[in-house]
Amino acid sequence: MSVLLVSTGPEPEHAAAGHPERPDRVAAILERIGAEADLAAIPRIDPGAAEEAAVELVHTPAHVAAVRAMAARGGGWFDGDTYCAPGSREAALRSVGAALAAVDAVCEGRSEHAFSISRPPGHHATAARAMGFCIFNNVAIAARQAQHRGRGRIAIVDIDVHHGNGTEAIFWDDPSVLYTSLHERPLYPGTGASADRGGDGAPGLTLNVPLPSGTTGEGWLSSFDGAVLPAVAAFHPDLVLVSAGYDAHSADPLATLELSSDTYGAIARRLRDLCAGSGAGSVWVLEGGYDLDALGESVAATLRGLAPPGQA
Ligand SMILES: [Zn+2]
Repeated sequence: MSVLLVSTGPEPEHAAAGHPERPDRVAAILERIGAEADLAAIPRIDPGAAEEAAVELVHTPAHVAAVRAMAARGGGWFDGDTYCAPGSREAALRSVGAALAAVDAVCEGRSEHAFSISRPPGHHATAARAMGFCIFNNVAIAARQAQHRGRGRIAIVDIDVHHGNGTEAIFWDDPSVLYTSLHERPLYPGTGASADRGGDGAPGLTLNVPLPSGTTGEGWLSSFDGAVLPAVAAFHPDLVLVSAGYDAHSADPLATLELSSDTYGAIARRLRDLCAGSGAGSVWVLEGGYDLDALGESVAATLRGLAPPGQA
Protein backbone atom coordinates (compact mmCIF):
# COMPACT_ATOMS: atom_id res chain seq x y z
CA MET A 1 0.00 0.00 0.00
CA SER A 2 1.23 3.46 -0.61
CA VAL A 3 -0.14 5.49 2.29
CA LEU A 4 -1.25 4.83 5.86
CA LEU A 5 -2.76 7.12 8.51
CA VAL A 6 -1.88 7.14 12.17
CA SER A 7 -3.97 9.23 14.54
CA THR A 8 -4.49 9.70 18.24
CA GLY A 9 -7.66 11.71 17.65
CA PRO A 10 -8.30 15.34 18.68
CA GLU A 11 -6.88 15.00 22.24
CA PRO A 12 -9.55 17.07 24.07
CA GLU A 13 -7.57 16.90 27.33
CA HIS A 14 -4.81 19.02 25.77
CA ALA A 15 -6.48 22.43 25.40
CA ALA A 16 -6.45 26.01 26.69
CA ALA A 17 -9.35 28.44 26.24
CA GLY A 18 -8.95 30.57 23.12
CA HIS A 19 -5.62 29.03 22.08
CA PRO A 20 -5.19 28.39 18.33
CA GLU A 21 -3.47 25.02 18.87
CA ARG A 22 -6.73 23.25 19.74
CA PRO A 23 -8.46 19.87 19.49
CA ASP A 24 -10.68 21.10 16.63
CA ARG A 25 -7.62 21.04 14.36
CA VAL A 26 -7.31 17.27 14.33
CA ALA A 27 -11.11 16.88 14.44
CA ALA A 28 -11.39 18.99 11.27
CA ILE A 29 -8.81 16.85 9.47
CA LEU A 30 -10.44 13.57 10.48
CA GLU A 31 -13.90 14.87 9.53
CA ARG A 32 -12.63 15.88 6.12
CA ILE A 33 -11.00 12.50 5.57
CA GLY A 34 -14.11 10.69 6.76
CA ALA A 35 -16.35 12.64 4.39
CA GLU A 36 -14.57 11.64 1.17
CA ALA A 37 -14.73 8.05 0.08
CA ASP A 38 -11.23 7.74 -1.37
CA LEU A 39 -9.64 9.26 1.74
CA ALA A 40 -11.87 7.34 4.15
CA ALA A 41 -10.61 4.15 2.51
CA ILE A 42 -6.98 4.85 3.50
CA PRO A 43 -5.98 2.33 6.19
CA ARG A 44 -5.55 3.77 9.67
CA ILE A 45 -3.77 2.53 12.75
CA ASP A 46 -4.34 3.60 16.36
CA PRO A 47 -0.97 4.10 18.05
CA GLY A 48 -0.03 3.66 21.67
CA ALA A 49 1.66 6.29 23.81
CA ALA A 50 5.45 6.54 23.63
CA GLU A 51 7.55 5.56 26.64
CA GLU A 52 9.56 8.32 28.29
CA ALA A 53 12.69 6.38 27.29
CA ALA A 54 11.83 7.00 23.63
CA VAL A 55 11.35 10.71 24.33
CA GLU A 56 14.79 10.75 25.93
CA LEU A 57 16.32 9.70 22.61
CA VAL A 58 16.14 13.46 21.99
CA HIS A 59 15.12 15.30 25.16
CA THR A 60 16.98 15.79 28.41
CA PRO A 61 15.71 13.84 31.43
CA ALA A 62 15.25 17.23 33.13
CA HIS A 63 12.81 18.37 30.42
CA VAL A 64 10.87 15.11 30.55
CA ALA A 65 10.66 15.46 34.35
CA ALA A 66 9.57 19.11 34.09
CA VAL A 67 6.67 18.17 31.81
CA ARG A 68 5.65 15.38 34.17
CA ALA A 69 5.79 17.74 37.17
CA MET A 70 3.84 20.56 35.54
CA ALA A 71 1.05 18.24 34.40
CA ALA A 72 0.94 16.59 37.84
CA ARG A 73 0.43 19.90 39.61
CA GLY A 74 -2.55 20.72 37.42
CA GLY A 75 -0.84 22.40 34.47
CA GLY A 76 0.52 25.85 33.71
CA TRP A 77 2.50 27.60 30.98
CA PHE A 78 5.97 26.66 29.76
CA ASP A 79 6.18 30.13 28.19
CA GLY A 80 3.71 32.75 26.98
CA ASP A 81 2.67 30.61 24.00
CA THR A 82 2.88 27.10 25.32
CA TYR A 83 0.35 25.69 27.74
CA CYS A 84 0.31 22.51 29.80
CA ALA A 85 -3.08 21.14 30.84
CA PRO A 86 -3.37 18.29 33.35
CA GLY A 87 -3.69 15.86 30.41
CA SER A 88 -0.99 17.42 28.24
CA ARG A 89 1.82 15.06 29.19
CA GLU A 90 -0.24 12.03 28.18
CA ALA A 91 -1.34 13.76 24.96
CA ALA A 92 2.25 14.67 24.14
CA LEU A 93 3.38 11.08 24.72
CA ARG A 94 0.59 9.85 22.43
CA SER A 95 1.60 12.40 19.79
CA VAL A 96 5.15 11.04 19.90
CA GLY A 97 3.71 7.51 19.83
CA ALA A 98 1.82 8.29 16.63
CA ALA A 99 4.98 9.53 14.91
CA LEU A 100 6.84 6.41 16.06
CA ALA A 101 4.07 4.14 14.78
CA ALA A 102 4.23 5.88 11.42
CA VAL A 103 7.99 5.32 11.28
CA ASP A 104 7.56 1.66 12.22
CA ALA A 105 4.96 1.14 9.49
CA VAL A 106 7.27 2.49 6.80
CA CYS A 107 10.43 0.83 8.15
CA GLU A 108 8.64 -2.53 8.28
CA GLY A 109 7.46 -2.13 4.69
CA ARG A 110 3.76 -2.01 5.58
CA SER A 111 3.42 1.25 3.68
CA GLU A 112 5.52 3.44 1.45
CA HIS A 113 4.27 6.63 3.13
CA ALA A 114 2.59 7.29 6.48
CA PHE A 115 0.99 10.39 7.99
CA SER A 116 0.75 10.99 11.73
CA ILE A 117 -2.26 13.23 12.39
CA SER A 118 -1.64 14.07 16.00
CA ARG A 119 -1.12 16.95 18.41
CA PRO A 120 0.55 18.70 20.17
CA PRO A 121 3.03 19.58 17.41
CA GLY A 122 6.77 19.37 17.98
CA HIS A 123 9.25 21.24 15.80
CA HIS A 124 9.87 24.20 18.14
CA ALA A 125 10.65 21.99 21.16
CA THR A 126 14.39 21.86 21.87
CA ALA A 127 16.18 19.10 23.73
CA ALA A 128 15.73 20.99 26.99
CA ARG A 129 12.51 22.99 26.68
CA ALA A 130 8.94 23.26 25.44
CA MET A 131 8.10 26.30 23.31
CA GLY A 132 5.94 27.49 20.43
CA PHE A 133 2.96 25.21 21.26
CA CYS A 134 5.35 22.21 21.25
CA ILE A 135 6.15 19.93 24.21
CA PHE A 136 8.14 17.04 22.73
CA ASN A 137 9.77 17.16 19.29
CA ASN A 138 7.82 14.42 17.52
CA VAL A 139 9.73 14.53 14.24
CA ALA A 140 13.16 14.54 15.92
CA ILE A 141 12.25 11.54 18.06
CA ALA A 142 10.88 9.84 14.93
CA ALA A 143 14.24 10.42 13.22
CA ARG A 144 16.11 8.69 16.05
CA GLN A 145 13.61 5.82 16.02
CA ALA A 146 14.13 5.38 12.28
CA GLN A 147 17.89 5.26 12.82
CA HIS A 148 17.42 2.56 15.45
CA ARG A 149 15.50 0.68 12.79
CA GLY A 150 18.38 0.83 10.36
CA ARG A 151 17.53 3.93 8.35
CA GLY A 152 20.83 5.68 8.89
CA ARG A 153 20.44 8.83 6.82
CA ILE A 154 17.39 10.94 7.56
CA ALA A 155 16.24 14.03 5.67
CA ILE A 156 13.76 16.24 7.51
CA VAL A 157 11.74 18.52 5.22
CA ASP A 158 10.02 21.19 7.32
CA ILE A 159 7.19 22.85 5.36
CA ASP A 160 5.58 24.63 8.32
CA VAL A 161 5.49 28.42 7.90
CA HIS A 162 7.57 28.80 11.06
CA HIS A 163 11.22 27.80 11.30
CA GLY A 164 11.70 24.56 13.23
CA ASN A 165 14.32 25.90 15.61
CA GLY A 166 14.09 22.89 17.91
CA THR A 167 14.70 20.34 15.18
CA GLU A 168 17.53 22.41 13.71
CA ALA A 169 19.25 22.69 17.08
CA ILE A 170 18.88 19.00 17.91
CA PHE A 171 20.61 17.91 14.68
CA TRP A 172 22.90 20.93 14.20
CA ASP A 173 26.10 18.89 14.52
CA ASP A 174 24.78 15.54 13.29
CA PRO A 175 25.96 14.51 9.81
CA SER A 176 23.38 11.71 9.64
CA VAL A 177 20.41 14.10 9.59
CA LEU A 178 19.76 16.82 7.00
CA TYR A 179 17.33 19.49 8.20
CA THR A 180 15.67 21.70 5.57
CA SER A 181 13.12 24.44 6.13
CA LEU A 182 11.21 26.93 4.02
CA HIS A 183 9.64 29.49 6.32
CA GLU A 184 8.35 33.03 6.50
CA ARG A 185 10.91 35.48 7.86
CA PRO A 186 10.71 37.59 9.91
CA LEU A 187 8.29 35.54 11.97
CA TYR A 188 8.30 33.53 15.21
CA PRO A 189 10.70 32.19 16.50
CA GLY A 190 13.16 34.46 14.67
CA THR A 191 15.69 31.77 13.75
CA GLY A 192 16.30 30.23 10.30
CA ALA A 193 18.65 32.65 8.54
CA SER A 194 20.02 31.31 5.26
CA ALA A 195 23.56 31.67 6.67
CA ASP A 196 22.77 29.05 9.32
CA ARG A 197 24.05 25.86 7.68
CA GLY A 198 24.75 23.46 10.53
CA GLY A 199 27.67 22.64 12.75
CA ASP A 200 31.06 24.20 12.17
CA GLY A 201 32.71 20.88 11.46
CA ALA A 202 30.38 19.84 8.66
CA PRO A 203 28.49 22.73 7.06
CA GLY A 204 25.49 21.82 4.95
CA LEU A 205 23.61 19.78 7.54
CA THR A 206 21.00 22.50 7.65
CA LEU A 207 19.36 24.30 4.74
CA ASN A 208 17.25 27.32 5.62
CA VAL A 209 15.21 29.09 2.95
CA PRO A 210 13.57 32.18 4.44
CA LEU A 211 10.73 33.64 2.39
CA PRO A 212 9.16 37.11 2.59
CA SER A 213 5.58 37.87 3.61
CA GLY A 214 3.22 37.41 0.66
CA THR A 215 5.17 34.61 -1.06
CA THR A 216 2.74 32.70 -3.29
CA GLY A 217 2.48 28.96 -3.79
CA GLU A 218 4.29 29.36 -7.10
CA GLY A 219 7.14 31.24 -5.43
CA TRP A 220 7.30 28.71 -2.60
CA LEU A 221 7.48 25.78 -5.04
CA SER A 222 10.15 27.56 -7.04
CA SER A 223 12.37 27.72 -3.93
CA PHE A 224 11.47 24.15 -3.04
CA ASP A 225 12.43 22.92 -6.52
CA GLY A 226 15.50 25.10 -6.77
CA ALA A 227 17.07 24.54 -3.36
CA VAL A 228 15.38 22.00 -1.11
CA LEU A 229 14.63 19.07 -3.42
CA PRO A 230 18.14 19.00 -4.94
CA ALA A 231 19.70 19.08 -1.45
CA VAL A 232 17.48 16.24 -0.24
CA ALA A 233 18.21 14.17 -3.36
CA ALA A 234 21.95 14.77 -3.04
CA PHE A 235 21.86 13.65 0.61
CA HIS A 236 20.56 10.19 -0.45
CA PRO A 237 18.28 9.75 2.57
CA ASP A 238 17.12 6.34 3.72
CA LEU A 239 13.91 7.98 4.96
CA VAL A 240 12.28 11.38 4.43
CA LEU A 241 10.47 12.89 7.40
CA VAL A 242 8.17 15.83 6.76
CA SER A 243 7.33 18.39 9.43
CA ALA A 244 3.89 18.86 7.92
CA GLY A 245 2.67 22.29 8.96
CA TYR A 246 -0.16 23.91 7.01
CA ASP A 247 0.10 27.46 8.35
CA ALA A 248 1.69 28.78 5.13
CA HIS A 249 -1.82 28.55 3.62
CA SER A 250 -3.26 31.93 2.58
CA ALA A 251 -6.17 31.51 5.00
CA ASP A 252 -4.00 30.89 8.05
CA PRO A 253 -4.40 33.49 10.81
CA LEU A 254 -0.83 33.18 12.18
CA ALA A 255 1.25 34.01 9.09
CA THR A 256 1.14 35.79 5.75
CA LEU A 257 2.32 33.40 3.04
CA GLU A 258 -0.13 32.64 0.23
CA LEU A 259 -0.06 28.88 -0.39
CA SER A 260 -3.22 27.02 -1.42
CA SER A 261 -4.32 23.46 -0.80
CA ASP A 262 -3.15 22.72 -4.36
CA THR A 263 0.36 23.77 -3.31
CA TYR A 264 0.32 21.06 -0.64
CA GLY A 265 -0.77 18.50 -3.21
CA ALA A 266 2.13 19.56 -5.41
CA ILE A 267 4.59 19.26 -2.50
CA ALA A 268 3.37 15.73 -1.79
CA ARG A 269 3.69 14.67 -5.44
CA ARG A 270 7.25 15.98 -5.57
CA LEU A 271 8.27 14.11 -2.41
CA ARG A 272 6.48 10.97 -3.58
CA ASP A 273 8.45 11.12 -6.82
CA LEU A 274 11.72 11.72 -4.96
CA CYS A 275 11.05 8.72 -2.71
CA ALA A 276 10.03 6.55 -5.66
CA GLY A 277 13.40 7.20 -7.22
CA SER A 278 15.31 6.23 -4.09
CA GLY A 279 13.12 3.70 -2.29
CA ALA A 280 13.26 5.87 0.83
CA GLY A 281 9.60 6.28 1.78
CA SER A 282 8.24 9.22 3.75
CA VAL A 283 6.70 9.88 7.14
CA TRP A 284 4.59 13.02 7.57
CA VAL A 285 4.10 14.43 11.05
CA LEU A 286 1.50 17.15 11.63
CA GLU A 287 2.85 20.46 12.89
CA GLY A 288 0.90 23.77 12.56
CA GLY A 289 -2.12 24.93 10.56
CA TYR A 290 -4.78 26.98 12.32
CA ASP A 291 -7.56 27.66 9.81
CA LEU A 292 -9.75 24.59 10.10
CA ASP A 293 -11.12 24.50 6.54
CA ALA A 294 -7.72 25.16 4.99
CA LEU A 295 -6.14 22.54 7.22
CA GLY A 296 -8.64 19.82 6.29
CA GLU A 297 -8.48 20.64 2.59
CA SER A 298 -4.69 20.82 2.55
CA VAL A 299 -4.18 17.50 4.36
CA ALA A 300 -6.65 15.95 1.91
CA ALA A 301 -4.58 17.34 -0.98
CA THR A 302 -1.42 15.94 0.61
CA LEU A 303 -2.91 12.46 0.91
CA ARG A 304 -4.10 12.55 -2.71
CA GLY A 305 -0.63 13.67 -3.73
CA LEU A 306 0.94 10.71 -1.94
CA ALA A 307 -1.64 8.20 -3.14
CA PRO A 308 -3.50 9.26 -6.25
CA PRO A 309 -7.11 7.95 -6.43
CA GLY A 310 -7.11 4.25 -7.15
CA GLN A 311 -3.59 3.72 -5.80
CA ALA A 312 -4.30 3.82 -2.04
ZN1 LIG B 1 3.87 26.84 12.40
